[in-house]
Amino acid sequence: MTHQPAISISVSFQHPFNRAGGRTSDVSQKLMIWEAYQQTKIAEAERTADRAMSKADRYAADIADIRRQVDRLSLACQAMWELLRDHSDLTEEDIEAKILEIDGRDGRVDGKIATKQTNCTACGRPTNSTRSSCVMCGAPLTKEHLFEG
Ligand SMILES: [Zn+2]
Repeated sequence: MTHQPAISISVSFQHPFNRAGGRTSDVSQKLMIWEAYQQTKIAEAERTADRAMSKADRYAADIADIRRQVDRLSLACQAMWELLRDHSDLTEEDIEAKILEIDGRDGRVDGKIATKQTNCTACGRPTNSTRSSCVMCGAPLTKEHLFEG
């Protein structure tokens, strides 16, 4: 039997300030404050993430609603077009040309019906063409386009 020397490893962590005379408690206090600050920051980050997730959920629901509306409008447009085509001499080229002409009325062919500033016919003050009534006097406004938003 061979003699195994006993190996003892002793590790001690001592902050250098400890020897300098009672400053360890200052350091631990600072560490505790830092820890509390970090915990506050983590809690804030978690609340921000929660809010972002619920916002994302709301946007996803809005997008689903908008998709349903777009589908419904597409069906209505297709039905109207097919009825019109079947009861007239109009062709797909005619409707494409008309879409381009309406799109370009605001000076830009961008696939959008532009909103314009118009003057209220009742009070004469400027108002937005997307509104159904004047923001100043409440008079009903006539839209330039039947399907304008
Ligand atoms: Zn008005």
